[in-house]
Amino acid sequence: MSEIYDCIIVGAGPAGLAAALYTSRDRSKTLILEKFMPGGQINNTDRIENYPGIERIDGPGLIAQMQKQAESFGAEIKNGCEVTSLEKQQDSKIAVYCDKDKFVARVVILAPGSDYRKLGVPGEDKFRGSGVSYCGTCDAPFFKGKHVVAVGGGNTAVEETLHLTKFAEKVTVIHRRDEFRASKILVEELLEKAGGPNSNLIIKYSTIATAIEGDKKVESVRFRNVKNEKQEDYPCDGVFIFVGMIPNTGFLKGFVELTDKGFIKCDYGYLRTSVPGVFVAGDCRIGAAMQLATAAGDGVVAAMMLKQYFRDPEWWNEPVSELLQPGGW
Ligand code: NAP
Repeated sequence: MSEIYDCIIVGAGPAGLAAALYTSRDRSKTLILEKFMPGGQINNTDRIENYPGIERIDGPGLIAQMQKQAESFGAEIKNGCEVTSLEKQQDSKIAVYCDKDKFVARVVILAPGSDYRKLGVPGEDKFRGSGVSYCGTCDAPFFKGKHVVAVGGGNTAVEETLHLTKFAEKVTVIHRRDEFRASKILVEELLEKAGGPNSNLIIKYSTIATAIEGDKKVESVRFRNVKNEKQEDYPCDGVFIFVGMIPNTGFLKGFVELTDKGFIKCDYGYLRTSVPGVFVAGDCRIGAAMQLATAAGDGVVAAMMLKQYFRDPEWWNEPVSELLQPGGW
């Protein structure tokens, strides 16, 4: 008979490691299953300046500390362990299957993260971290006084473009259609900003990026107008790509409820999924703010709510208060 864990956490990114810190410090027997090695997306970041309390650190450095802290309270991590499926057992425990192994827990916290959707153009991978970014909130301060291009037409693209205009000298946002997908209120703000006096914002519709070019760092982007096929080499210092996120939730299809884009459905207050005993934390959930600090915060919330579930399993069926119902996200 295999060992029964109090809590199995899927994913050792900031959400999973924060959850593990809380559950293991609370003397819950905790196992983290990680597909590759701890960290996830944050490992690609060499400068973090927006994690409260830490002035500056690199992604791998922060993750190493988070891992050490969770392990110091007894959390166990298995690296290179890709979860392929989960199953609710008759005794209400949850079986978690990796390639060859089966693990069983009273509670599971899903924290597999998500990946930025890529444009898939030449130069995108080469210049990632040398001018190509997927997070304006994280990287805008590094482009003070520079010229940047933003790509996308959704809410993230519009919000992040507006954020970039506070730092960069000039921002050019390109969108592949002639109408933004983002909420009206955000689009109005964007248009007002672009039309204002001495504006540093340029909008180019019906335009796609076909290549990102430079020597050691980004120097230009090749644009193509999809209506008249005109091409243009557009000089810039950075390219911010905001074309959506892809959650790492393929293995959860048929087990928990997902949105049509693959994000895990949950209630916003307690992070309960559609399966009793299974919580979610971090970027893979509906409505996630996609930030390091909020992912860690989610891990803490899920770990706290796990105690509530242990105390009273019937609590799972209690509705969240009206104030905590999902909003207009
Ligand atoms: P999104 O809504 O899926 O928008 C992605 C944008 O990227 C779309 O404009 C899409 O163009 C464009 N795009 C996709 N693939 C592309 C490609 N290969 N080349 C060029 N453009 C491409 O993603 P999101 O903006 O990250 O938002 C994700 C979710 O979070 C949404 O539900 C959004 O409403 C929500 N969110 C809400 C807020 C808020 O309420 N304040 C803020 C941020 C995000 P098309 O329009 O032509 O398809």
